[in-house]
Formats: sequence, C-alpha cells, structure tokens
Amino acid sequence: MIFGGNDTTFINESKVKKIQEIKLSNLNENNEDKNDKSAAPILNKNKNDKDTKDTNILFFPISSLLTKTDKIDKEIKCKKCNFYFNKYSKTYSENTDNKDLLTWNCESCNEKNLITMNDSITNFFNKLDKNDYEIVKEKSYIETPKDNNNNNNTTPNDNLKIDNNTTILYCFDISGSMNSMYMVDRQTYLKIKNVPDIIDKNKKYFRVNRLDCIKSAIYEGVNIIKEKNPNTKVGLISFNSKINIYGDTINQPLKISNPETLNNYDLLSEIGQKNSDKINCSINESYDSLMKQLNKIEANDCTAIGPSILIAINMLRNKKGSTIFLCTDGLANKGIGGLEFNNQKEESKKFYKKIGQLANELGIVINLITFKDEESEINILLEMIKESGGDISRVNPEKIIDDFNNILTNKIIGTNTKLTINLNKMLTFKNIDEDLENDGSTYIKNIGNSKENDEYYFEYKFKSSKKIASFNDIDIEKINEIYFQICIEYTNEFNEKIIRIITDKTKISTKKEEIEKNANFDVVMNGIIQKQANLSMQNKINENNIDGWKEYINKQDNINSSTTKIFNQIISNFENIVISKDKSASHSYNSMKNPSHILKKKKKQYEKNKSKSEKVEYGKKK
Ligand SMILES: [Zn+2]
Repeated sequence: MIFGGNDTTFINESKVKKIQEIKLSNLNENNEDKNDKSAAPILNKNKNDKDTKDTNILFFPISSLLTKTDKIDKEIKCKKCNFYFNKYSKTYSENTDNKDLLTWNCESCNEKNLITMNDSITNFFNKLDKNDYEIVKEKSYIETPKDNNNNNNTTPNDNLKIDNNTTILYCFDISGSMNSMYMVDRQTYLKIKNVPDIIDKNKKYFRVNRLDCIKSAIYEGVNIIKEKNPNTKVGLISFNSKINIYGDTINQPLKISNPETLNNYDLLSEIGQKNSDKINCSINESYDSLMKQLNKIEANDCTAIGPSILIAINMLRNKKGSTIFLCTDGLANKGIGGLEFNNQKEESKKFYKKIGQLANELGIVINLITFKDEESEINILLEMIKESGGDISRVNPEKIIDDFNNILTNKIIGTNTKLTINLNKMLTFKNIDEDLENDGSTYIKNIGNSKENDEYYFEYKFKSSKKIASFNDIDIEKINEIYFQICIEYTNEFNEKIIRIITDKTKISTKKEEIEKNANFDVVMNGIIQKQANLSMQNKINENNIDGWKEYINKQDNINSSTTKIFNQIISNFENIVISKDKSASHSYNSMKNPSHILKKKKKQYEKNKSKSEKVEYGKKK
C-alpha cells in the first residue's frame, strides 16, 4: 500500500491537545464529582474535529497481487479486531513457568493475544520474517451458479479455474445505425480500412462507418492476441434483428431469428451453453477464417443486444477468466432486454443487472465499447458492466484502435475478490456510505472480478477526540507509529482460495507542512478523482468539497502548475456531470476504476496540445 503522506499520517495539533484535555478532565471528574457534567465545557463540538483536507489517503493497486509472496497455511488473528499476525508483530513471554506460551499485542487494538508455541508456529514465524504473505485455504470447488430452471449443473468443476488460454468473445452490433458515417483523414482511413495506399491522391477526406471502425479495432485486437498468446480462443457473435453465432468461424454459423426465441431467457441460455464448443480452436488455427468472416459482415436492421449477450455469457459458462467485448452504438430494441419503450425499461434494467451478476459469479468480464458522439442508453448497460468489473470505452474513429485494445491488457487476476481494510482503532474512514465494522475501523468491500489495472483509494481520519480519549491504553503523545492492514480474499488462477495479508505502518505527525513537502500528491489527486467520480456516479457531487480540494492542491508548491491545471479540469468536469446524460457516465466510470490512468492520459494530451500550439507560435513569428 502507498500513503498520500508517504510514511506519515497527519494529526491536527489541536486535536492532540484536546484529547489530552478530555483525558485530564475525565480524571478530575473521577476524583472529584462524577455527577458534575458542567465541569466539561471542553466537550463542546470543536471545529478541529471536522474533516480537513490533508494527505491521509491510502492507495491499494490490485497489481500488487502480482508480486510473489510466501504461501502459508496457518493463520493467527487477533481475537478482538481481526488484525492478522504480521511481519511487524512481536511476541514476548510473560509467563516464566511456561516458556511456550507467548503474548502478542495486536498492532491495531492492543489486545493481548496468547500463542502456544509448537513446530508449525515456529515455522510460520520464520517464514514471516519481514514479509507479507498469503494464507492458502484449501482448494475451493466453486459450484456453477444455479439458474432458476436448471438445477443439474452444480457439479464441482475443475474447469472453473482461470485458464491462461482464456476465451475472448467479440459480441458486436451490425444494426443499421452502424452505417453512420464519419469523415476521416487519409491516414486514419488507410488504418481503419486496412488497405494499401491506392486511392485518389487528391482526395483529403474519406468516409468510414462505425462498423468499419469496430471491425478494424477487432482486427488489431486479434493480431495482438495472436502475437502475445496464440493459444487464446477468439470467437465472434454479431447481432442485429438476428443473431449469428460464428464462434471460432471454423464451422457454419448458427442463426437465431425467431422473435419468440429472442424473448426467452431460458431458451437463450440453453442455446449459449449448447454452443460453447463453437469456440474450440486457438487463434493460431482460426486466424485466416476469422479475418475472412469479419471482412464479409455488413450492417443493417434492428439491435438484439440482450439476447446476444445472454447467449455469449452462456457460451463461456465454463471458461472462467474469459472476456466479452460488447460493441454497440445503440438502443437495444429486439428481444429480451429491449429499451425502446419506456414500459420495458424497469424489466430490462433488472435483466442487465442479472447478467452482470451472473458474469461475476462465473468469473467473466464484460467490457462495453461504444461511440463518443452517441447517446446510447449505456446507463442501463452500465449496471451489467459494473457488476462484472468490466471497462467502458467510448471511442472516436481516430482513436478507436488504441482505446479499444488498451482494455486487452487489463487481465483478471482474481475472482470473488473481497477487500478488508483494517485501520488502527484510533482511525476511521472518510466519506464512505456503506456500513463500517469494528467500531468504524474496518471496511469490507466486495469487488468480484479483480483486474490488474484496478485501483482503490481510501481516505482516513482520526476518530473524535472524545473517542480517542476514551482509550485508556493509548497515550496520544507517546505514539510513534500506527499500523494498517489490507486483507484481500480472492480465488486465484489455480482455483485456490487465498487471503493475502499486507501490513504497513506510518509515523504520525502534527506538522502538516512538513508532511506536504514530502507527500505523494499523485496518490492524493488520484484518490480525490476516484472519490469524486464515485460521487458523480451517484449524482451526489458536493461543489464545496470540490472547491476545497482544488484550493488545497493549488496551494502546494511541489506540484507543477500543468498538473494542477489538469487536476482542476478533471475535477471540474465532475461538477458539470448529470449522469442521465450518458456520455458523462462513462467518463466517471473510467475515472472511478483507474484514476491514475485518466490523469496520465490527460497529461499526455496536455503535452501534445502544448507542443502543437508552440509550433503554431513558432510558425507565426516566421
Ligand atoms: Zn486487535
């Protein structure tokens, strides 16, 4: 984990004083008159107990799961607060009669825990030496999720582990609206059409349609997959008012067009499951046929998004770790999950949420690719993407290839992931709506499919002075260090249930300016971006809070001015967002999942524009 204040947590000096005052006054009360409550005027609400802007932000990147650690099959947990015994833990012997009985004072809550020494504990202590570690629970056999009418598919299944040779299924829209045209320059045209330069040399602008763009991005993606992991299986499904299941394209496609079928959840699920073997060949074997097929596909007619995604997910039912790319520009208007009429919307919302939950249970990620200038009803599809842990790309023809295939690199690391963040008992979380546990010091978040590029930021703060003063075992002025622990429970690629225990510590200091001099403001800014994106997704933006953060970041000397500008821009965008306008939804959604990517991307754009305008300036002078 990485801290906004680097290795230091900030505590307000007046808070420290206040805690001491309360402690003293309580002592006096105890000694003199217990009933005289008027003797405690200091307990009045103090401004300093309010939230301030500071660097107390904790960052956890999912990619840290990629670093190797020791695997241990033992767990020692504090009996009071669920903190695990860790690399910083110390033991001592209190009992001189029994040297095998050790005491461990929990780093979070100070609880005394007794540990009886034996060989396996000695082994555990030796392994732990200064390292984080993973507890391996026994191999878990995850049952295939039950569908209402399908009770016979719950046999334990070893195929459910994440396979290195997973399946990528492109599920793309070929409805009439995909014929919408764009004008692009020569270079973009050649790239999208994948043709050599044989066209009219005098022409400056060329027409491409949306389907051309999607196809070219799929070409490029397939080429990347073939080069990097030729054993991956790649499948195609296209949809308009009919669904064509091409699979790996080696055999004849299956066409589904009966309107009754397209509205039947169970039947569509069954069709998907029955046709899972249509994606059998690796991309190495199917490449030529797949490219040829893709080339032939043209756009017309309506849009059966719901039925085709339902088939797609069922085709991948036993292929945990697989990915679906749903590429569409439009309104679902054919079959189940239709969004054309207002009276369908509630029902369809439930449908897409259900699909998302199913994807999560099966360890499948659904990504959405849509167009920048299109107000497609992605709010309703969003729920599905969110549940599955997928990404959204809103692309324009010039950049489609880059944007689209960026997602290819965001791999699933774990499924059924649960994040538990344990703070010291003096600390709690800031701005979290959900219920906290352990008197506010523990936050548990279920994140389902966790992917390499996902990031999590948590703001934390000290509890009220009164609360901290009530801890008899804590002398705030004598505390030098506080401990943080993150436990990530997940199912790894070998289908093992793992708990990784990551423990870290910071000093605490009242010297705000000194902390800010050495702070990690990337973590702070990304944390704020993530939080605001989160709030904007719920239409809960607080403008005062945004202004407060802008002010705070702007006054920092060690952030360069262009970064400050970019930060202001991103944050201000959230203020203007009304999520019913779908464009903003994807903007917020992406910032929420991976803010550091957004910040980096904007910085790049900024540098590019800057050098462009410098060139213009230079041209003018000449
Ligand atoms: Zn404890």
